[in-house]
Amino acid sequence: MRIKAKIWISIAISLLIILVFSLFPFYGYQEVKNTDAEMRVAAMIQEGVFELDMVAYDYLLHGSERAHQQWETRYESLGQTIASAHFDYLQEADLMEKIRQDYEDLDTSFYQLAKAKQAQKSSEEVERLTVQYLLKSQIIFSDAARLHETVSTNHGGLQEMLLWRGLGFVIVLLFVVMGNNLFISRLVSDPIDKLHKATKDLRRGKFETRIKIETGDEFEDLGDAFNKTTEALGRVNEEHKQLDKAKTEFLSITSHELRSPMTPMVAQSQMLLKEYYGKLNKKQKEALKIVLRNTKRLDNIIQDLLEISRIEAARLKFRFAKTDLTKHIKRLVEEMDGFMPAKNIKIVTKIGKLPKIEADPDRTMQVLRNLINNAKKFSPKNTKILVEAKRKDSQVVFSVKDEGIGISKEDQKKIFAPFFQAEKTMYREYGGTGLGLSICKGIVEAQNGKLWFESELGKGSTFHFTIPLKPAKVIKPIRVLFSQKDVEKKEAHKMEKFFE
Ligand code: ADP
Repeated sequence: MRIKAKIWISIAISLLIILVFSLFPFYGYQEVKNTDAEMRVAAMIQEGVFELDMVAYDYLLHGSERAHQQWETRYESLGQTIASAHFDYLQEADLMEKIRQDYEDLDTSFYQLAKAKQAQKSSEEVERLTVQYLLKSQIIFSDAARLHETVSTNHGGLQEMLLWRGLGFVIVLLFVVMGNNLFISRLVSDPIDKLHKATKDLRRGKFETRIKIETGDEFEDLGDAFNKTTEALGRVNEEHKQLDKAKTEFLSITSHELRSPMTPMVAQSQMLLKEYYGKLNKKQKEALKIVLRNTKRLDNIIQDLLEISRIEAARLKFRFAKTDLTKHIKRLVEEMDGFMPAKNIKIVTKIGKLPKIEADPDRTMQVLRNLINNAKKFSPKNTKILVEAKRKDSQVVFSVKDEGIGISKEDQKKIFAPFFQAEKTMYREYGGTGLGLSICKGIVEAQNGKLWFESELGKGSTFHFTIPLKPAKVIKPIRVLFSQKDVEKKEAHKMEKFFE
């Protein structure tokens, strides 16, 4: 059934319930109205009996024909009131029957008394009949009073009941409205919750996630479509993984194969240059130098590619041992001081109190060396580089800050993309493959660390990386050779997270 139909049915059921429950106070109100009329009639009867009594006393005292006539008129009017009450309103009251009887008895009694008076019977006889009449009159009076009281009590009870019914109706109304709202919101929110959870799983890369929505409406269709899409995505992801694996294997095999001939090529070129095989003229030496330089460059690239293939396949070797990082940093800085002496760049260190930790000093220094190397490469003469290391929570944070050329906002997005080099001509003289940062990032992330930077064009850059105090139990495979699109996507994702 479609969602719209379900909502309409729920509204219709709610209206029906409200309608049925509204009948209770409605009928209650009718009953109260009826007893209102009953009360009025009961009061009229009581009043009629009282007035009849008054004229009866007049007659008993004076025995005048006028009083007799008046009694009869009043009696008749009381009779009419009783008759109309009996038929119209007080049919339910048991007392009414009794009052009707009392009323007839009263007539008989009055008739006997009047007859005895007219026949001038003995005073005892008149007295007896007077007492008898007064007795009957007393009975109808008290019955009329009781009737009035009963009807009043009944009226009060019904009024109270009407109040309760009204209250009950309001409560039912609230429940129905709430129930209806709850039903509609669950109708929509339950499947949306499921979809939301599933999309979260999907975002985390769980392509086997499926949702089960059995509502028989559009949400079920949506759930089916979602499941089909995830299935397709899972397949694509699987293919992607296979391709990735094939690429890493290809990279590993080809770089190995390419590396083998490099050593004899370099060795032979060097021997040629050193004139082991005979004298060379100036031009030949120049040409050979170019060959040697480029062979070394090629060898560097192949070595980098080999390293990348190891990172991607989680085959990077780490030799963890208790390490005094301060000692290693100082040694490295000394070594790096001698690099590019012409630039006269001063390396300043600021090392906090570092604990001796389980780490691979060679890998850690490899990353730091690369960063200091870059800092020197991209800084002008007579500037300063600050190398910092400090403990922060469960990590050691390294920073390399330079006063160099900086990186433009546009290039910052691409900095970790393989083979990316911002400077096309100016600094090419210092070589480099454009793979250094990608490898550093891979090495750091493989052991659960992070590598990031801040930079402003023309003002300098600061690169940071962390290594955990406790070494990673498992070395993770890291994708280094991602495409430029991946880099942009990663950046976009970071921004999304930032604004979340
Ligand atoms: P390369 O071997 O070319 O230095 P990297 O991967 O180490 O390759 O660096 C990639 C690019 O990032 C560099 O070519 C340069 O454009 C930029 N870069 C890296 N470090 C710095 C820095 N400290 N200052 C300015 N630019 C830098």
